[in-house]
Amino acid sequence: MKVPFLDINKQHDSIRHKLDEAVAKVINSGWFIGGEYVERFENEFASYLDAQHCVTCGNGTDALELILEAYEIGAGDEVIIPSFTWVSDAEAVVRAGAKPVFADVAIDTFNLSVENIRPLITNQTKAVIAVHLFGLPADLAPLKSLCDTHDIKLIEDCAQAHGAVYQNQKVGTIGDAALFSFYPTKNLGALGDGGAVVAYSSDLADRIRLIKDHGQPVRDQHLLAGRNSRLDSLQAAVLSLKLKHLDAWNVERARLAAVYLKELENTSIKLPLMQQGRVWHLFTVLSAQRDELKDHLAKADIQTAVHYPTPLHKMNTFKHELSLPNAEIISSQILSLPLYPGLTETQQAHVINTIKRFL
Ligand SMILES: *Cc1c(COP(=O)(O)O)cnc(C)c1O
Repeated sequence: MKVPFLDINKQHDSIRHKLDEAVAKVINSGWFIGGEYVERFENEFASYLDAQHCVTCGNGTDALELILEAYEIGAGDEVIIPSFTWVSDAEAVVRAGAKPVFADVAIDTFNLSVENIRPLITNQTKAVIAVHLFGLPADLAPLKSLCDTHDIKLIEDCAQAHGAVYQNQKVGTIGDAALFSFYPTKNLGALGDGGAVVAYSSDLADRIRLIKDHGQPVRDQHLLAGRNSRLDSLQAAVLSLKLKHLDAWNVERARLAAVYLKELENTSIKLPLMQQGRVWHLFTVLSAQRDELKDHLAKADIQTAVHYPTPLHKMNTFKHELSLPNAEIISSQILSLPLYPGLTETQQAHVINTIKRFL
């Protein structure tokens, strides 16, 4: 039996008629940039999160670049980021002209902790980017008080955590600013690229609106050298529709994760942390025989993936003479199993049985 790592058509089939309708409406409106669909999605997403401001943009990486630029973080500044995450976090910091400072992550959560960050803070530190990796919220309360003490911005990377809750608040509303990605495979994904900044301060939100639209408060007035980064109307209409299904899809992901957790407990592979309020973007296990396990699953027609094989501080692009043991161990042992709305019970049983045979 074939088990793809992800079958996005399953999600789309379940709302296909409404998707076609939403796309047709935008085409008929003849308005593809900005306008009512974009405004509506920004309001809906802010209200879903219970956030003050949502400003959409071209993708999640842009969202982070926009936040850093709006905070005027650049040359001479340092930004602390986890070494085990998607590359965007390092890229955006480098593009801003600042220096990424790589922190190790906790071995059980894969996220930043205060203990890992505190020794890295200097007079140049301007921000910490806390990533809610794979949908597990970082422990934000102690991070926030550490950042506040040192007058450092706490930026949440929520690209993998749409709908996750930390202490009764949706992630994205706890730090000073947050970024979301709507890349098609995320928990809330467009039919193309998309992203958003969620901000607490209206000054920050206004400044980001200005930067992402050529510095124009009104047409043909350019107050600063801005750029172009926007969510188009088609994607906004699709996201408004999909947002209505996000919670149900997250519940389905959680149900599948619970099956993996139950069926694979007490084996030699290390399972991801269950935590109230988390969402499941990826279901990742740690195995000392990761590559053999991956091959074994592939031979049974089961597709898996490695997120991420190289910690950022070991990439040539960002190379540092650093040793961050947890990030290095996790990268060498981690494997993502198929987990998506529409994965069938028989497909999942095939994955579980094949893993058990290997062990
Ligand atoms: C996907 C992702 C991003 C970037 O989003 P894009 O829309 O692809 O630019 C940033 N951070 C993390 C953790 C991600 O998973």
